[in-house]
Amino acid sequence: MINAVEASGVGRRYGRIWALRGCSVALPEGQVAALVGPNGAGKSTLLNLIAGLLRPSEGTLQRFGRPVSDRPEALARVGYMSQDTALYPTFTASELLRMGARLNPGWDDDWARERLTRLRLPANVPASNLSGGQRSQIALVLALAKRPRLLLLDEPLASLDPLARNDVMALLMQAVAETGMTVVLSSHIISDLVETCDWLVAINQGRVQVSGNIDELLDSHKLITGPREAVDTLPPRVSIVAQTITGRQASVLLRSGEHPIGPVWTVHRPTLDELVLNYLRQPEASVLPGPVAVAG
Ligand code: ADP
Repeated sequence: MINAVEASGVGRRYGRIWALRGCSVALPEGQVAALVGPNGAGKSTLLNLIAGLLRPSEGTLQRFGRPVSDRPEALARVGYMSQDTALYPTFTASELLRMGARLNPGWDDDWARERLTRLRLPANVPASNLSGGQRSQIALVLALAKRPRLLLLDEPLASLDPLARNDVMALLMQAVAETGMTVVLSSHIISDLVETCDWLVAINQGRVQVSGNIDELLDSHKLITGPREAVDTLPPRVSIVAQTITGRQASVLLRSGEHPIGPVWTVHRPTLDELVLNYLRQPEASVLPGPVAVAG
């Protein structure tokens, strides 16, 4: 298996402002990756770089073992959808599908039409007369009908109500199960992604704070709670990611190690929310794991 995405020291700046800096991540093929971080963190910049819509100011970026390129043959298997993906408002779903078929060599028209029918999406109503949820579903059907090997979704759920979010995620996960494609899905709402993603990239202020397989990350961290004064008695060799003091209570996220921490602490496996929030809370305490080697 190869890495779908491999970034090494990637940075992108706008004038003197770095939107992304020192980004080194590797995403194995076939993963569904959550790209999380607050607004302005650099998520769209990273997705645009992977898509080839932007060029890095520094560092190297590869898709499937080759330098990212915006040449048509390289883009043929990359799908991209942003939250404000504009469907031409006067076009119907049927007309959009016809356009997609003309523009994309690998277009699967039978699949797309069958999906519209199954989702009960009106084929002959102009996009401007559809609900936000219906428009998002059509945009996703268009992105999927191209049969991408890598699908990049920038905040696809941001403007949707809970029912529509559910429908869009169900459509996506079914397509993932059918094709095994790699997906990178950004959101500033972690709970949107918990059940569907197996890989995490958390980003804040243009820096990757943590990246890896979600189960492995959760297994390799501990969240400990105890009296605040006990923080100072933690052995110097424990690796603290972040700590929060609330009243007399301290909550500390640790990278798991063999060091005994004393009986005053209650230890549990963090939830994904707890892991991400702790990494995002203290940008200066970040880990920047290098690219993960994947057996080839
Ligand atoms: P996110 O998608 O996480 O909200 P972005 O990648 O859109 O974050 O933005 C990262 C940073 O780069 C922000 O500080 C943003 O203001 C800045 N930025 C993004 N696009 C531009 C641009 N075209 N010109 C100048 N600054 C930009």
